[in-house]
Amino acid sequence: MTMNVLGYAAPSAKAALAPYQFERRDMRNDDVGIEILYCGICHSDLHEVNNDWDRNSIYPMVPGHEIIGRVVSVGPDVTRFKPGDQVGVGCMVDSCQNCAACKQGLEQYCEKGPTLTYDDKDRYDQMPTYGGYSEKIIVREKFVLRIPEGLDLKGVGPLLCAGITTWSPLRHWRVSEGSNVGVIGLGGLGHMALKLAKALGANVTLFSRSPGKEQDARSLGADNIVISTDGEQMAAVNNKFELIIDTVPYVHDLNPYLPSLSINGTLVLVGLLGNLEPTLNTVPLIMGRKSVAGSAIGGIAETQELLNFCGQHGITADVEVIKIQDVNEAYKRMFKSDVKYRFVIDMASLKS
Ligand code: NAP
Ligand code: ZN
Repeated sequence: MTMNVLGYAAPSAKAALAPYQFERRDMRNDDVGIEILYCGICHSDLHEVNNDWDRNSIYPMVPGHEIIGRVVSVGPDVTRFKPGDQVGVGCMVDSCQNCAACKQGLEQYCEKGPTLTYDDKDRYDQMPTYGGYSEKIIVREKFVLRIPEGLDLKGVGPLLCAGITTWSPLRHWRVSEGSNVGVIGLGGLGHMALKLAKALGANVTLFSRSPGKEQDARSLGADNIVISTDGEQMAAVNNKFELIIDTVPYVHDLNPYLPSLSINGTLVLVGLLGNLEPTLNTVPLIMGRKSVAGSAIGGIAETQELLNFCGQHGITADVEVIKIQDVNEAYKRMFKSDVKYRFVIDMASLKS
């Protein structure tokens, strides 16, 4: 039996979100049924609703992939969870489990494509997937994360996307005590990057186009702030960073950042920008063996590693909790970078 669920959906591309009643797929033997308590709002939700990425999106679209909830039911084959457990769900709810990527725990790079939490189709019954701006969700056990004790749940949801998307490059490029790390853009991902890089012992610099974020940036973990439009401040950090994580959501010029990479340094993009404009100048890359790379979220085991790390270090996102009725306003504010530093929807508001 499918399950009737209330959520908020965008009825078509670029349209405002509104209440929407829909069917979720049947519970299978290895599924966990989850009542959703909180869901973060990612800039990707705005890109998806607006169809910025030309993905043949499925509407009505219920966004949301920073999900915190409580287990309400489990299929007979589920061994790791029981009703009452606090759990999380991020950007993926399934993958093929068979390809080289899945076998390495890199489900986000599944060769057949991971099943995304929303705006995708279930691998077995082809029903559309709907995200976390809703009452309940059904997820394969393998893709359900355990939330460590002692964290304020309101700030945990963003770890499942903003957190893991910055954690994965920090780990892949082996950031540790004394590494020099730059972060471009202080939004949802940027503020998690500052916190996580700092907790790993790095010296952290924020590049921002917004004067006025300095004090916040310092309290989030930045040792240094560079206003990216100020040539003198940019020149002062030449040759400094082993890793720069670029979280800017829209096409922008990367060339001004390349001189600030150290020899062998990497600038890793996490925004899906499409073609770069202007194009990259290769000379500063060659003269210093520098790289420009990309990275997507993180695997399931790596996401659990991040959650455990955050449990040990008491790290959560800085959030503004909103009612679901205010989601359209929150999108407008997020577009203007007017959020400190992640909106999270309290799903109890769905019933009011
Ligand atoms: P966000 O909260 O809106 O933050 C983005 C920040 O980038 C802003 O706070 C602003 O920082 C800066 N910025 C915004 N617009 C800009 C522009 N036009 N030019 C230059 N700087 C600009 O967004 P988010 O939720 O952190 O997401 C960031 C990007 O990562 C989005 O594109 C999202 O889709 C993507 N993402 C990717 C993955 C992945 O797996 N690769 C996962 C999650 C999200 P300042 O004011 O400090 O400059
Ligand atoms: Zn996201």
